[in-house]
Amino acid sequence: MPSSNEQPIPAARPVIGEEEIEAAVRVLRSGRVVQGPEVAAFEEEFSALVDGRHCVAVNSGTSALHLLLMAIGVGPGDEVIVPSFSFAASANVVRLVGADAVFVDIEPDSFCLDPAAVEAAITPRTAAIMPVHLYGHPAAMDRIMAIAAKHGLAVVEDACQAHGAALNGTPVGAFGAGGTFSFYPTKNMHSLEGGMVTTADAETARTLRLLRNQGMEQRYANEIVGANVRLTDVAAAVGRVQLAKLDGWTEQRIANAAYLSEHITAPNVVTPPLAPGARHVYHQYTVRIRGDRDAAMAKLTEAGVGNAVYYPTPIHRLKPYWEPDQKAGRDWDLPETEKAAAEVVSLPVHPSLGQGDLERIAAAVNALGENL
Ligand SMILES: *Cc1c(COP(=O)(O)O)cnc(C)c1O
Repeated sequence: MPSSNEQPIPAARPVIGEEEIEAAVRVLRSGRVVQGPEVAAFEEEFSALVDGRHCVAVNSGTSALHLLLMAIGVGPGDEVIVPSFSFAASANVVRLVGADAVFVDIEPDSFCLDPAAVEAAITPRTAAIMPVHLYGHPAAMDRIMAIAAKHGLAVVEDACQAHGAALNGTPVGAFGAGGTFSFYPTKNMHSLEGGMVTTADAETARTLRLLRNQGMEQRYANEIVGANVRLTDVAAAVGRVQLAKLDGWTEQRIANAAYLSEHITAPNVVTPPLAPGARHVYHQYTVRIRGDRDAAMAKLTEAGVGNAVYYPTPIHRLKPYWEPDQKAGRDWDLPETEKAAAEVVSLPVHPSLGQGDLERIAAAVNALGENL
């Protein structure tokens, strides 16, 4: 048991340091706060993370996914294959464009889309496949891209948790027709709120820029119907500061995860496996508890170790999906998804952890013992 004067270790710790504050104040003082030169510079700099792809900044990761689906023409009558084991945003954007989410099971090790299940779910209505690089682990993009090519389908990567992750040297966000990133405060880097779309196709990038700003390139010469999901220059300035620190933070997350995987030895606690060729950036360090998870979480909290379940309810069981499926007599068979939702717990892995924190986390998990 930790002594009572030890501070609890938070599950996540967003950084808003002096540099972020100075950058925001600099832009505020300039008086030029809406989308402008900071956003352009942020896009240019972020492009280095995704093999030089075009980058279009928007106000959230959800907007990034939404605009990308619109830009590649996904709409009513189309199906998009998505994992149910993800944040609701992954499926919400499919419904927001009027298409249907087709839920597919995950691989138990990576927690990401199972390529064999993807192929089995393809119908004449399938327009796109949306792998989610969950927790910062890249999905099996080599196999998913091969399936997509064989069937002529677009691949839309939800990389909102995976800034800097890669498979066999190719960064996430650089595989598919497009990729999306979130800069929400708890993500591996943030811009207060914000998001980025990445694409190799210049025409798609232009459409994305139009969609984010009322369909205008020239003011009041609207070319298409668009929204306003612009990022502010204040947010972009914060994002640029964070982007410059991302590599160092990622190395620290990887080192923290390596320490935990080496030192967590409790039976009935399964540490996160790594697929061959994968660069996992540990947005979350997620273990499986084979036993009474609620009791385990309560003990961790008592020991001052932050913990959380991402996500306790698979998307297909959330009301806006479950109710219409029930009415239509549609049932998804997602055993690995259900199992993961019942077993996972994420532990602190953020770069602010010190050696003492890591030791405390491993000790608290090992103290769960054999009687889970
Ligand atoms: C955070 C997240 C999103 C949405 O990003 P926001 O910036 O919060 O809109 C989408 N998908 C996944 C997997 C996420 O983790």
